[in-house]
Amino acid sequence: MANTGDRENSDCAGVRPSRRGVLLGGIAGLAAMATAGASVRTFGAEAGAATSRGAGEKVKNLIMLVPDGMSTGAVSLLDRHKRLTTGKPSFWHSLRGAKGTMHANHTTDAYESLVTDSAAASSAWSTGIKHKIKSLCVTPDGRQPSPIFMRAKAAGYKVGCVTTTTITHATPAGFYCNMIGRGSEAEIGQQLIERGVDVAVGGGAKFVDPAVEAAQTAGKANGLIVARTMMGLRAAMANPAPRVLGLMSSDQIPYVLERRAASTEQFNLAEAAILAANRLAAGGKFVLQVEAGRVDHAAHNNDAPALLAEMMEFDATLEALVGFTRATPGTLLVVVADHATANPGLTVYGPKGQAGMEKLAAAKHSFEWMIDKVNKENEKPMRGAALAQFAELHLGIRLGADAPGLLQSVHDARQVDPFGARSSLIAVLGSLCGNEFGVGFVSVNHTSDAVDLLAIGAGAESLPGMIDNTEVHEWFCGLLGLKPSIA
Ligand SMILES: [Zn+2]
Repeated sequence: MANTGDRENSDCAGVRPSRRGVLLGGIAGLAAMATAGASVRTFGAEAGAATSRGAGEKVKNLIMLVPDGMSTGAVSLLDRHKRLTTGKPSFWHSLRGAKGTMHANHTTDAYESLVTDSAAASSAWSTGIKHKIKSLCVTPDGRQPSPIFMRAKAAGYKVGCVTTTTITHATPAGFYCNMIGRGSEAEIGQQLIERGVDVAVGGGAKFVDPAVEAAQTAGKANGLIVARTMMGLRAAMANPAPRVLGLMSSDQIPYVLERRAASTEQFNLAEAAILAANRLAAGGKFVLQVEAGRVDHAAHNNDAPALLAEMMEFDATLEALVGFTRATPGTLLVVVADHATANPGLTVYGPKGQAGMEKLAAAKHSFEWMIDKVNKENEKPMRGAALAQFAELHLGIRLGADAPGLLQSVHDARQVDPFGARSSLIAVLGSLCGNEFGVGFVSVNHTSDAVDLLAIGAGAESLPGMIDNTEVHEWFCGLLGLKPSIA
């Protein structure tokens, strides 16, 4: 693997000496770089309405918004989709061009893999150390560095996380737990409760409930209150009890497309993020991670309609958090994906491409929902035809005469696409839909692409123009006055 030798010779597991040398110069060094204009860019003073009030301000609160798996291609699709459906540009695009918004190119590779996963990525942000994929704050040599939430708590910050995945999923978990395997979600749930995260909202009740019950039985719940609906969450956030846990779904929170189709009030990421930020701010200084986690899942599934719906939710959450940041002195908002996933792109020329985006906007359900329905309601050998029929019904498109046969071939374990990483049922369904939507995906996996990082508010001016995920941690520690993860 490229870079491995570099890491083996490093003085601190996984941190590249050349970049670390720069960062050990401290945040003052980064600020000096910003002042000198070296490697720092500020975009279009005329566009957007953000202010540069944050320049020189001391950082009191940090909010990190993570659109998990959001590639630069997904960002472009979001803007096309939003202009088409609302007549306005995406908030992300308007923010990118606004005065006071800092922009960096963010690299994401893991310790042993150029393509990272969310566990290694979150652990790098949390500890400043490169991790192996699937590891949560357990280093390649077996050490357990203190996650950023634990050090922030020790320094007097309130800490919280809000996500559309399970609250024990890799991206939030990397900020509060030490676990060798990200799949141990029940054990991660135990650490969530035991380590006193002040606010935690997401799915995953089935993983966390046993730990809550055990804590309550042992009299160690320490004022924890649990909400399970948006109405309950609003009430819990206004309650003076010291800790709030929002368990909004047994497993992952359903995709936006499914939430939209439900008749009852459903989870709303933007509102939950603002509720959490307001509550944490009332307790003094804070660190909050907010994750639009199912952007990644939809991209894995090559599901363009579900992806765009999740991206729209991310964009609304971004707008809400920028409003909070502008209204709350001392707040730094950092927006960055942990990695890119499947690199979607509109790739059909002319009016057909435009028409594809219009068809995409009319889709009603996610691929996951359709496949689940087909699996429950049909037996072999009907699945290929049934899935094609379902897709046409719920996506509002025609898949073509060869679609049932192709889908059935994959179902019968025959390789339809010569590229192995695109040979699954979901990828072939994505390709068939791509003929109509005009959107193609490179695989069903993450990619090694760098991603965009935006920062606004207090301390944003010290962001360098290129930054690795480990360096994000050192940047945060400098701004927040936190100790290193390993003393
Ligand atoms: Zn993923």
